[in-house]
Amino acid sequence: MENREFTVGVDLGGTNTVIGFVNIHGDFIAEVSFATQTKAGPGKFVEGLARRIKEMQDKLPDDCECLGMGIAAPHVSYTTGKIVAPANLGWGEVNLISMLSDHLDLPIAVLNDANAAALGEMGYGVAKGLRDFVLITLGTGIGSGIIANGQLLVGARGLAGEFGHMTAVCDGRECGCGRRGCVEAYASAQGITRSALELMSDIKTSTVLEREKFSDLTSEKVFMAAQKGDSLAREVFEKTALILCGSLADMAACFDPEAIVLSGGVVRAGNTLLKPLRKHFEESLLHIFKGQIPILISKYPEGQAAVLGATLWLQQSIELPEHWKTNSPG
Ligand SMILES: [Zn+2]
Repeated sequence: MENREFTVGVDLGGTNTVIGFVNIHGDFIAEVSFATQTKAGPGKFVEGLARRIKEMQDKLPDDCECLGMGIAAPHVSYTTGKIVAPANLGWGEVNLISMLSDHLDLPIAVLNDANAAALGEMGYGVAKGLRDFVLITLGTGIGSGIIANGQLLVGARGLAGEFGHMTAVCDGRECGCGRRGCVEAYASAQGITRSALELMSDIKTSTVLEREKFSDLTSEKVFMAAQKGDSLAREVFEKTALILCGSLADMAACFDPEAIVLSGGVVRAGNTLLKPLRKHFEESLLHIFKGQIPILISKYPEGQAAVLGATLWLQQSIELPEHWKTNSPG
């Protein structure tokens, strides 16, 4: 029977949402990814999410059994089940558990998306075997999950790990959260695009990016230009690395991790970002940590680690059949 049992994991991202049906071994038995449509409001989004899950279930053999659903989402508290005004979704306060319960008769658990990605990496990914690490997601937004002594650090309200909204630059750029100078305003995909636009207006160096309409410029285009050797685009990644490394060194000083794990779309820039980042990170580290904290890169496609982590969180939140307790890292 255990081969027919599965849990549903969802990663609600600012750009894409991923649904995964995951078996006891952490294997994906079905997966769907779709663009997160936020403009019609959370009600329509939840309705569409529930419809897709039912469609996926309809394609499975009749004897397959779903044990529950874990959802990874931005700015969500596992204690209340509520998303609180996430900067990248444009919604107010949304009670995901109660809204989804109107459509699906399943036990549901929610968890901050980067927290979920940290659990997924610890259970199945590059952090398997680690007991102290910090995972940072660099994408549309920036988040983090902190694992201390093998446990997820959740905080008093379940909101711990908002690395993206730590201050990187005093009185710096406006952030989507309403504050100024947050890491997210510099090192997210949008932050990288903003850095390119700033440099283009400040520096009189010619760049291939000048051919782009300003409104069409994206971090991917800046990356492509950097790969072709464009000096302004390379400077953007150098500046991004310089800002990010200080905040990563702060996290290292706070949590004494075995490693820092990076994931998310921005990491696809590879060595264009990682080479300067590793160099500056090492220089920024407090001397007692130097040479001891590797930066590891997630091997999962976007959303998958959070999906796996959401299912592991569900497993910690509900009563499971005995064989799940012994076979799953959750
Ligand atoms: Zn912020």
